[in-house]
Amino acid sequence: MENKIQVLPEDLCNKIAAGEVVERPSSVVKELLENSLDAGAGDILIELEAGGKKLIRVSDNGSGMSRQDAFLSLERHATSKIRTDNDLFALSTLGFRGEALASIASVSRFHLKTCGNDEGLGQEIYAEGGLIKRAEEVGLPRGTVIEIRNLFFNLPARRKFLRKEQTELGHAADVVTKQALANPAVSFRLKHNDRILLDLRREKGVRERVAALLGRSLLKDLLEVEQQAGGDLQLNGLISQPQLTRSATSHIYTFINGRYIRDRVVQHAVMDGYRHLLMKGRYPVVILFLQIDPALVDVNVHPTKHEVRFREQTLVHDFIAQTLQQTLRPADWVSPSQATDKRSAEAFVAGNEMSVVDRFSQPKTVNEPPVDYAVPGAVSNLPSADLLASASGRLQPPASSPEAEQILLPVADQGGFFANLQILGQYHQSFLLCQDGDDLVLVDQHAAHERVGFEKLKKSYAGGTVASQSLLFPEILELDFRSAAALTDYRQELERLGFEMEPFGGKSFALKAIPQILPNRDAGQLLIDVALELERVGRTGQLQESIDDILILMACHGVIRANQALTPVECRALLRELDQVDFKTNCPHGRPVIQRLTLTEIERMFRR
Ligand code: ADP
Ligand code: MG
Repeated sequence: MENKIQVLPEDLCNKIAAGEVVERPSSVVKELLENSLDAGAGDILIELEAGGKKLIRVSDNGSGMSRQDAFLSLERHATSKIRTDNDLFALSTLGFRGEALASIASVSRFHLKTCGNDEGLGQEIYAEGGLIKRAEEVGLPRGTVIEIRNLFFNLPARRKFLRKEQTELGHAADVVTKQALANPAVSFRLKHNDRILLDLRREKGVRERVAALLGRSLLKDLLEVEQQAGGDLQLNGLISQPQLTRSATSHIYTFINGRYIRDRVVQHAVMDGYRHLLMKGRYPVVILFLQIDPALVDVNVHPTKHEVRFREQTLVHDFIAQTLQQTLRPADWVSPSQATDKRSAEAFVAGNEMSVVDRFSQPKTVNEPPVDYAVPGAVSNLPSADLLASASGRLQPPASSPEAEQILLPVADQGGFFANLQILGQYHQSFLLCQDGDDLVLVDQHAAHERVGFEKLKKSYAGGTVASQSLLFPEILELDFRSAAALTDYRQELERLGFEMEPFGGKSFALKAIPQILPNRDAGQLLIDVALELERVGRTGQLQESIDDILILMACHGVIRANQALTPVECRALLRELDQVDFKTNCPHGRPVIQRLTLTEIERMFRR
C-alpha cells in the first residue's frame, strides 16, 4: 500500500486551530471514530472499560495504514487529509489537524494495529506516554484497531478530574450516538465492560437509524425535512412536531457536511423555525443535516470542531428557519396550557428526563427511551360537549334560547382547539371572550380573521388562481394614467389574484369579478392599490417574493375589522375557520391572535 501521511509544513500548522482535544475518554472516542469514518469503515466496534478510563478500543474495517504511515500517524501534524492551506476550505474529511493520535498517544498506553493491504500483512506499534516501546509486523486483516489504556496515567492531575464511570460512559455513548446518526450506513457496536449497549446494524437511511437509536415510537411524531436551495445548500433530516418536546436542547442534533456541530447560528435558526410553536423552556427533537459548499463554512475555528463560522450567516440561518417553518406549518396546534398540563409535567419528572448515562446504564431503555409528549388536550379528545362541560367544571353559558346554547357551547367532535372554546361573548366589538378549561382566553377578531384570510388567499393563489365572485353589476372604474397603465401591465397577475376586468374605453375599466374573500364595497379601490403595488414591486424584480405582502394587503381589506359587532354564529364560524389554517397563533403581521389569563392570575388580581 502506498504511503499517504505527510507532516504538515510549520506555517500551515500555525493556521490550524490549536488546543488540547483530549479532555476525557469521550474525546478519545470522538477522535478515533472520526478516523475510522474517514478511513471509510463500514463496521465499527467501540469497547470501553470503566467508562473508558481503563480501556478504549476502537476497531474498524476501513482502509488501514501502510507500515510507514502507521509510524507517521503518531507524529504531530501528520495527516493524510490536507496538504496545503487551500485544503482547509475544501474539507471532505472529519479530521485534518493531524494531531489527535499524537496527543492521545502522549497521555496513554497506546496500542495500534493496522493493515492497509489485502495480503494480511500488518503493523503493530506500542507506545507509552508518546514513546514507541515496541513495533513489529503482524498478520492482520485490512483495517485498524486502536487501543488506549489508562488514559492520563502520566498526568495524575488530569486523571483526578475524570468523573464516575457512568458519567464518562454517558459522554462516550453520546459521541457514538451523534456519529451513528450521521452515518446510518455504518454499523456501530458499543460495548461496556463486556455488555453490549448499542448494536446498530447498517441501515439504509436516517429514519431507521433514529428508530434504532432513539426509539421507534418517536417516528410518528417526527416530520421529514428535505429542502434544497441554490449554491449547494441542502437540508435533510427529521424534526419533531410541536407536541413532542424536551426540557433541554440535548435532542437537537445538527450536522454540517456530516460533522456534528453545536453552533449558535444553527441553534437559533432551529428555534426560529419553531417560533410561536413551543412554550418557553421547551425544545424540539431535531436531527438535521445541512450540506453546504465547504468553501462557505470554516470548521477550523475550534480544536474540537464543534463550532463553525459561515461565510453567509444570514443566508444559512434563514434557509434553516424557513425550511423548518414550512415543514411545521401544517402541524396541529396544541394550546399552550394543554402542553404545560400538570400531568405531563409530572410524567416528565417521573422518568422521561433520563440522562444519556441513565439510558445507557439501563439496557431496557436503550432502544425505547421514554418520550415526553404534551398531552394532546383533554378538550379535543373528549367525546361530547356535556362531558366536556362537566369534566372541566365549566360554567354553563347564560344561554337564553336553545339555538344560542348550541352556538355558544363548543362542539367537541368538530374541529380543533378554537372550535372547542366556549364563547362567553364579545368585548368592545373587537375581542372574543372565551373560556378554555379554567382559563380566560381572548381572541383578537381582526388578527384571527386576517390570518384566516391570508392563509386562504395564499393557498388558492398557490393552487393557481384566487377564487373570485362575479359582480352582479360590473363596476366602472375611471382611472388616472398611471393606475390604468398598471392595470393593463399587470392584468394577468391581477386575474390570478381574483380580479376580472375589461377595458372600457380610454382609461376606464369594467370590474366584473373580485376575489371571493372581499366585500363588494371598496373593491375598486383595493384593485387600484394592488395594481400599483404590483407595479412597484414588479420594477424591483421581486414580484414573487412580494406576493405575500399583496395577499396580506388583500386579507386586511377583506376581513372583519375591530369595532364590528359579531353574532354568536359569526364568532363560532371564525373560531372554526381558525382551526383550519396554518400558523393560527399570530396574524400575518406577527400580532398575537390569542391571549390567555389563567384562573390563578385573575384571582391574584382580586387578591384572592
Ligand atoms: P487527522 O485525522 O487530523 O489526519 P489523526 O492524528 O487523527 O489526524 O490521524 C493521523 C493520520 O493517521 C490520519 O490522517 C490517517 O491517515 C491515519 N489514521 C488514523 N486513524 C486511522 C484509521 N482508523 N484508519 C486508517 N488511517 C488512520
Ligand atoms: Mg483524526
